[in-house]
Amino acid sequence: MSFESEVLNLIRKEDVTNLLQQLVRIPSPTGEEKTIAEFIYEVLKSWGLKTEIFEPIPNRPDVVGFLEGSEGRPTLILNGHLDHVPPGNLEDWSYPPYEGRIVNGKMYGRGAADMKGGLTSMMIAAKALKDANVQLKGNLVLTFAIGEEVGDPGTRHIVVDRGIRGDWGIVTEPTVFKGKFRVGVAERGVAWFKITVKGKSTHASQPNLGVNAISKASKVITELEKLSVKLARKKHPLIGASTCSVTIVEGGFKENIIPDQCRITVDRRMIPGETVKEAEKEIEKILKNLRKKDPKFRFSMELTCLFEPAEIPSKSEIVSVVRRNLKKVCGYDSKPWGTPYACDARNLINDAGIPTIVFGPGDISHCHCVDEYIELDEVVNAAKILALTALNLLT
Ligand SMILES: [Zn+2]
Repeated sequence: MSFESEVLNLIRKEDVTNLLQQLVRIPSPTGEEKTIAEFIYEVLKSWGLKTEIFEPIPNRPDVVGFLEGSEGRPTLILNGHLDHVPPGNLEDWSYPPYEGRIVNGKMYGRGAADMKGGLTSMMIAAKALKDANVQLKGNLVLTFAIGEEVGDPGTRHIVVDRGIRGDWGIVTEPTVFKGKFRVGVAERGVAWFKITVKGKSTHASQPNLGVNAISKASKVITELEKLSVKLARKKHPLIGASTCSVTIVEGGFKENIIPDQCRITVDRRMIPGETVKEAEKEIEKILKNLRKKDPKFRFSMELTCLFEPAEIPSKSEIVSVVRRNLKKVCGYDSKPWGTPYACDARNLINDAGIPTIVFGPGDISHCHCVDEYIELDEVVNAAKILALTALNLLT
């Protein structure tokens, strides 16, 4: 039997299901990744992988597992994040979010698709290679990062501060779209800006004695709407347009007091070619123009989250190898795709110069919502494709 078929035979749905269920049963909202990190560390160690655990932020560990090859190069890095978004209102869920209930081939739970399914596929792929006793020349490195959901430096710490570098990367975030895997080569960036518009409070019976921060803020919103119309014309062939949306407005504190402060949160999505700096300058220009026209307009602005956009050439080797294995395992091909969301691929591509794709089980439309779920067959197939890819690149 060839190594390929031996490895594929070792990737069994029951093992995938068991491991995924264990991961879903360990809550790991952003900031509370320690328990799941230690669990993964122990599992990888028990499978015989060299394993490291370290804390980029106190009490919040990243984990890395190494399947080391005889020649020590080249290196394929698989990457995923340990954290998930909060489950929201528990009563809205059909099944408890940390139970890992299986219904009709799907596993339900917070983080099942984003992205414990991806983590499971990475781990099971590595275990199959190990159990098949494949003699790798290069290294397979599994990286598990904290804080992706809020832009914490989990992955950045691994590839920059710890210097764990590779020749190719695969971030196993969900890329299934309409039931089929996609190979993501470009991803949008995102930046969140908090704009505080300042006014002067006074009794609402004499508004002319104060400065109404909400009225001033409404002018900012109008200008941001104009910006978003302009941005809609800036299109990337794979991921569509740039966007700029006002997502939170907070202001006022009493019915009869003219508000002295109004805060606006802006979600700005960027396409490859744009930078956070440019996006920031664009918004600053709007605010400065408003101040020029109105000396009573006072503001401050803060950048609270940033993910730079990223892109690799569609003809990169990692793209063609994964596409070939997708065809082999699932019987269809995927054209290079752009992910509508931002993810840690940007750290591997922009910060470490590693050609990286986004490819993993799960559909993003089933994430960050109640009744999040993943198709178990997708996790099995992703594990197979990852294992074949490692065989192709590292033996
Ligand atoms: Zn994710």
